[in-house]
Amino acid sequence: MFDRLPAPRQDPILKVMQMFREDPRDTKVDLGVGVYKDDTGNTPVMRAVKRAERKLVESQTTKTYTALVGDPAFHRGMTDLLLAGTVLAERIAAAAATGGTGAVRLGMELIRAANPDARVFISTPTWPSHNTLAEKAGLTVAPYRYYDAETGGIDRKGMWEDLDAARPGDVVLLHGCCHNPTGADLTPDDWRGMASFLTERGVLPFIDTAYQGFGAGLAEDAAGLRHIAATQPRMILAASGAKNFGLYRERAGITLVICPEDERATVSGTLGALNRASISFPPDHGARIISTILSDPALRADWEAELTDMRDRVNGLRRALADALRDACGSDRFGFLTEQKGMFSVLGGTEQQIARLRDEFGVYVVGGGRLNMAGLTLASVPRVAKAIARVL
Ligand code: PMP
Repeated sequence: MFDRLPAPRQDPILKVMQMFREDPRDTKVDLGVGVYKDDTGNTPVMRAVKRAERKLVESQTTKTYTALVGDPAFHRGMTDLLLAGTVLAERIAAAAATGGTGAVRLGMELIRAANPDARVFISTPTWPSHNTLAEKAGLTVAPYRYYDAETGGIDRKGMWEDLDAARPGDVVLLHGCCHNPTGADLTPDDWRGMASFLTERGVLPFIDTAYQGFGAGLAEDAAGLRHIAATQPRMILAASGAKNFGLYRERAGITLVICPEDERATVSGTLGALNRASISFPPDHGARIISTILSDPALRADWEAELTDMRDRVNGLRRALADALRDACGSDRFGFLTEQKGMFSVLGGTEQQIARLRDEFGVYVVGGGRLNMAGLTLASVPRVAKAIARVL
């Protein structure tokens, strides 16, 4: 039976990770992986996470199952972090999920259960799992143009032309902040335009937010999604605690569904039933770390301080790389880097050029030229800039 299994397609990001591990050069630089790293190349356990874990070890008296939608304290903490009171609690159904990935999947399954004919409009490019998760949930994906490689900003003309095909009941997937992979975010004006479009068309917004706090700040990075939440009758929000709490492997994520009050019980019950049919009870350790941090003023302050340091480091490296590229190229070709937000940007480049960066210079980026600023150090920036200027 398994002899008939087709070989699985290897995830391009995981492939880059593996090649990097096998490269013996000590000058190699990993800009491919999608996690935050400090100056020593480590992805740290955040201080507040350690303290929250100690607190949990001391105080936890049971590890019995939570509810099918997870722990209410996690719902409250995340809802407040994401929406800050923008929407009445009575209009929000919440379910803990297995990381941001599981949260997106759960949102897609909810759409499928409510309207199997819905098409999900997804930006080109996007985090590749968006397409896979929508399709695995049985939904049809409709791509929309998003990134303008010439300017490093948004291709507004292309985006609106493509979204014009959306019909009532369709879904538009948006990145809350720090667009992966381009770093090109919607401006406040774009968010307002999007809200009007959604209202006029009766299209459902689905916002995926995995980097709150990595762009300009916790509130700043949520401003766009809060505007949509405040103006729309319904919205799906998937959030991850992997990056901003550094809880990658704990798989802490949440799906929030905003809806009219009289729909909430059914939506909530459906989220629980969907969890039951796939993972049953959601993982709780990461979720409980998050709710412990968010409900304890001292832990929360320490978490925010460390997150600010992480953001400052990424932004500092972004500026340093843009400066070094200006020197190395003698032009402002890569000036757009400083306009972009979060850990990622795309440099473009053909497959051969990406391979040359890797083979000749030990600089690892993902196909399409996505690089993770957090993989740089102030020491490696000049070398990386020279390699990029030579190859691209
Ligand atoms: N959404 C986006 C846009 C992402 O970049 C990621 C992580 N790469 C996720 C969701 C999911 O994160 P996780 O499942 O690790 O919580």
